[in-house]
Amino acid sequence: MAQTATDPLTTLLQARGFLLADGATGTNLFNMGLMSGDAPELWNVEQPEKIEALYSAAVEAGSDLFLTNSFGGNASRLKLHGAEGRVRELNRAAAALGRKVADAALASTGRKVLVAGSIGPTGEIMEPMGSLTHDRAVAMFHEQAEGLKEGGADILWVETISAPEEYRAAAEACALAGMPWVGTMSFDTAGRTMMGVTSADMVKMVDKLANPPAAFGANCGVGASDLLRTILGFTAQAPERPIVAKGNAGIPKYVEGEIVYDGTPELMADYAVLARDCGASIIGGCCGTMPVHLRAMRAALDTRPRGERPSLDAIVAALGAFSSARDGTEAPGCGHDHGPRAGNAGGRRGGRRRG
Ligand SMILES: [Zn+2]
Repeated sequence: MAQTATDPLTTLLQARGFLLADGATGTNLFNMGLMSGDAPELWNVEQPEKIEALYSAAVEAGSDLFLTNSFGGNASRLKLHGAEGRVRELNRAAAALGRKVADAALASTGRKVLVAGSIGPTGEIMEPMGSLTHDRAVAMFHEQAEGLKEGGADILWVETISAPEEYRAAAEACALAGMPWVGTMSFDTAGRTMMGVTSADMVKMVDKLANPPAAFGANCGVGASDLLRTILGFTAQAPERPIVAKGNAGIPKYVEGEIVYDGTPELMADYAVLARDCGASIIGGCCGTMPVHLRAMRAALDTRPRGERPSLDAIVAALGAFSSARDGTEAPGCGHDHGPRAGNAGGRRGGRRRG
């Protein structure tokens, strides 16, 4: 089922030229008291006022869309919290709170904001490398998608995916739910996803889908510099679909056992403008991105002129060094290691979360 040009994301993007997405979910919820190891999705029913505050903060900072608190809301991940039987309920609640916030914003300011139903990875490895079958993955994503649809999400937003098999399963589930969708991958391993996908590979994969996304792109990963190199990798393939850039606020660093992000609002403002110059039209932040960053990004995108496609040197000068010398898209045979990351193939994503 192909997307039509009338899905709400495409319509809003055409009207506004570019869209500011939101920032981190996890980082903001930790600041509200969520403990490491807790399931954030349970807060959709146990602490709904905090989830509303999370969504409202993004809207008030100028976001044109925000993601629901449902990243880990699939049966496989919720099973870790004994909540695998609550997929529909928790996703419906995540989206319903979002609907409430978006409708209130429209009523009070006249500004339309989209509710994007977040769908993260299952946390399992798919066949043939792992044991999760395609049919089971589709069923899990579909169950989540139906909950988000029932709650009133405008669009589904698949994110932080590493495996092409999982991306395809999510695409199928979105078709079953009859919902338009966006899908981003996390390029966190020297320019590739943990499962070895390059930016160029992703463009080819997306173009072959029976149910292609309304937009595609990259989220999370390492730092903002790496993410923009991935965006340049997408645009080098001249994709026909809009590109999403949702980079972390600076570089993750361990400080006293915690992961912290060092990106300032000024850095994220520069990142946002550079992301647009790289060719992204839906721009937000991922881990570490707070309302103060979003506000700076909004102001920069609204006031600074568009520039030329930046060079890699310009990105490094503005945002800092890349985490790897190359991003895996170079022609084969150049003498560097471009093989699959076999050492990671059997690992789960573990506790790593978006936001
Ligand atoms: Zn992230």
